[in-house]
Order: sequence, then structure tokens, then C-alpha cells
Amino acid sequence: MERREQLYEGKSKIIYATDNPDQVIQYFKDDASAFNGVKKGTIVDKGGINNAVSSKMFQYLETKGTKTHFVEQLNDREMLVKHLDIIPVEVVLRNVAAGSLCKRLGVKEGLEFPDPILEFFYKNDDLGDPMINECHIDIFKWATKDEVAQLKEQGLKINKLLFDFYRERKIRLVDFKLEFGRHNGEVLLGDEISPDGCRLWNWDTNEKMDKDRFRFDLGSVEEKYQEIYNLVCKD
Ligand code: UDP
Repeated sequence: MERREQLYEGKSKIIYATDNPDQVIQYFKDDASAFNGVKKGTIVDKGGINNAVSSKMFQYLETKGTKTHFVEQLNDREMLVKHLDIIPVEVVLRNVAAGSLCKRLGVKEGLEFPDPILEFFYKNDDLGDPMINECHIDIFKWATKDEVAQLKEQGLKINKLLFDFYRERKIRLVDFKLEFGRHNGEVLLGDEISPDGCRLWNWDTNEKMDKDRFRFDLGSVEEKYQEIYNLVCKD
């Protein structure tokens, strides 16, 4: 397998072609951004940590019957994945109130929900990823009704699996974002599952262990990413 030309550069990852048109390489950068790119910075070793944590999570989810784009972790920074036609809908799962939900609905951070909340956002940086519902997805043909049903079913299933995975490690999975894409007629989980796209709190103290430390200048960003890496990858 050979790395070829760059296909796309995002805020935290670069996608490269390979000699196999069915597969691409995700390269994980140390660059961090927040508030739709307004705040920018670097988190030392973030790329390596997010690659390792995501690889572990994808392999874990595969063992539990979730279909993902993961093929193999190639090295510290690179992951070989199936080439997806990305569905432009971000699927957010929430177990505890935080972030945009608190602002939007005036709910206090930390409120635990009796059941998970699933939300859809339109993946569009220029518009700041606005919140949407199933009518928008249907009318603007971002996904079929059958695909939306799969996003909901898979999203809820993945939430349960990840919540339990992190609870065993004394971490509370507060919320997270998933992206899916099409590959040979199947809907597969794509993107990454790392502390960049999840809110993770210490189960006992509620200390934040994720990108909120960068977003809100809470300090010890590298240390907390490293702690998550140790908990997820070194057992
Ligand atoms: N999220 C993400 N990328 C986005 C938007 C959200 O990874 O473009 C993640 C975020 O890290 C959090 C969850 O999705 O774990 C819910 O985010 P929220 O809607 O609260 O938005 P935020 O407060 O991050 O702007």
C-alpha cells in the first residue's frame, strides 16, 4: 500500500489517496480548532493520541457488530480507512447536558438525561454546522429515509457501547459526534472517535478530560489527552 496525493485537508486531519481507489489514509494532525475555526492552536501529540484512541474504538465497535471505515492503524499518525462518500449530517448523542444544548435550551450543565438525546447537524463550516431535523435531511436529499433510520439506530447503539466502555474506565461519556458515509452500498461509521469529538468527564469528580480544556483554556490539555490514551489503549 502506497501513499499518494493529498485529497483533502481539514482542520485536524489530512486525507491521502492510496494505490487502492477503495481505500484512503487519514493523517492525524496536532492542530486544534474550536468555535468553528475561530480559536486555533496546537495540542502536542494530539495526532498520535487521536489516531490510537480512534483505532482502538473502531476495533472495539467492530467486535460488537458496528460497521466502520477502519482497515488498520498504519503508524503513529496514519490510519488506513475505506473511502467513503460522506453523508453531510453530523449525528450527536448526548447523555448529560453540556455545550450547545445548554446554550440553546437554557439547561444547566451536568443535568443527566433518563434517555440519550440524538441530534442532527448539517455538516457545513460556512454555515457553522446548523442544527437540522429529519425533514431537512429528506427535502434536501442529504440522506435517504433508510439511511436516516440507520444513522439513528447505529448512533444509539454506539452510544450504549461507548458509554459502557468508558464507564468501566471511570469516565462519563457526556456527548459525542459521529459521521457516517456510504461505501459499496453500505452505511459505515467514519471520521474519528477521539477526545476532540467527545465530552469525557471523570466519573467521580466531573473533571473535563476532552477538547473543552482547549476550548475554554482550562490548562493541562496534553496531560488529560494522555490520560484518556492510557485508559483506552493501555489495558
Ligand atoms: N462536536 C464535534 N464537532 C462539531 C460539533 C460538535 O466534534 O463540529 C462534538 C463536541 O465535541 C461535543 C458534541 O459533539 O462532544 C456536542 O457538541 P455541541 O453541539 O455541544 O457543540 P459545541 O459546544 O462543541 O460547539
